[in-house]
Amino acid sequence: MTSDVRIFAPAKVNLILRVLDRRTDGYHNLWSLMQTVALEDELHIHVQSDATGVHLQCDDPTLPTDGRNLIARAAGVVLERAKLAVGLDIRIVKRIPVSAGLGGGSSDAAATIVGLNRLLALGWSASEMAHIGQVLGSDVPFFFFAPTARVRARGEDVAPVRLVGERWIVLVNPGFPVETRWAYNRLSATRNGMTALSQGIAALSGKPQVTWEEILPLMENDFEAALAPTHHVLEKMKRGLLSRGAEAALLSGSGSTVFGVFPYEESAIRVRDEMKRQHGWWVSVAKAGSSSLSPHETVPLNSLQVG
Ligand code: ATP
Repeated sequence: MTSDVRIFAPAKVNLILRVLDRRTDGYHNLWSLMQTVALEDELHIHVQSDATGVHLQCDDPTLPTDGRNLIARAAGVVLERAKLAVGLDIRIVKRIPVSAGLGGGSSDAAATIVGLNRLLALGWSASEMAHIGQVLGSDVPFFFFAPTARVRARGEDVAPVRLVGERWIVLVNPGFPVETRWAYNRLSATRNGMTALSQGIAALSGKPQVTWEEILPLMENDFEAALAPTHHVLEKMKRGLLSRGAEAALLSGSGSTVFGVFPYEESAIRVRDEMKRQHGWWVSVAKAGSSSLSPHETVPLNSLQVG
């Protein structure tokens, strides 16, 4: 049995994020178009068949490395489901900002499931892995159908979409986190009921393929209005991106990252350098989509190197 795997876990942005009605279980129904970007955490997983327990090491000292880490939780869920007792040493190189609306923890969890599925020869399909992963967080199932997917309900209803064309994403983070639960509370406090899906978004539901030109005018996120009264800097970041030529700019997830969409890498890099210099924000350029497998594959996008 192979005992080591290196796997890359991409960040995501929400090209569309509508928060719909509140369900009887307390969660909200969502309608989102999610897209990976080539900003990736890196996981090194080593299996020890003569040991037990999960041991994590992370280069970011602010993240817990015990059972609170989504990687440890994902590993626990996989081992329980597979009825296996082995030791796991997992080393994480963290590049995705934390609590930034970029889904880093969820992607790490999905990557852990993919890595262990391969290492332990479990033979699970993308759908089975998504089902196993959904208990870990509502963004987790998406990553098994990346790079682009329409996501509904609590996050478990995922349909891959082919997004035609190339774009570069400028990610701007103000340097502070926004806690998702807090953002949902602000959303409930600031809006008077829920508006229906726009016709354009509703029409996307059945489409297996769309172009960037079709998506750009439909981009919206319900958390923007909810966070605007308390977080003026988010609007400033968005205006900064639009005034420098972004085709669209939007808050990702429940913040705190705002991203801009650019047609050319050179212009995206110029904007990144300018915004970093002028404001001192964390700014990064990443191509939409992530390395490795093709968008048509039903297997996960997370690239995998088994050694
Ligand atoms: P979400 O909307 O799912 O909260 P996010 O992108 O805003 O996503 P994440 O960076 O995924 O936020 O993580 C948010 C929380 O999850 C933090 O409180 C963090 O401590 C915890 N967490 C647990 N494991 C991880 C991990 N491997 N990477 C990042 N955060 C993790």
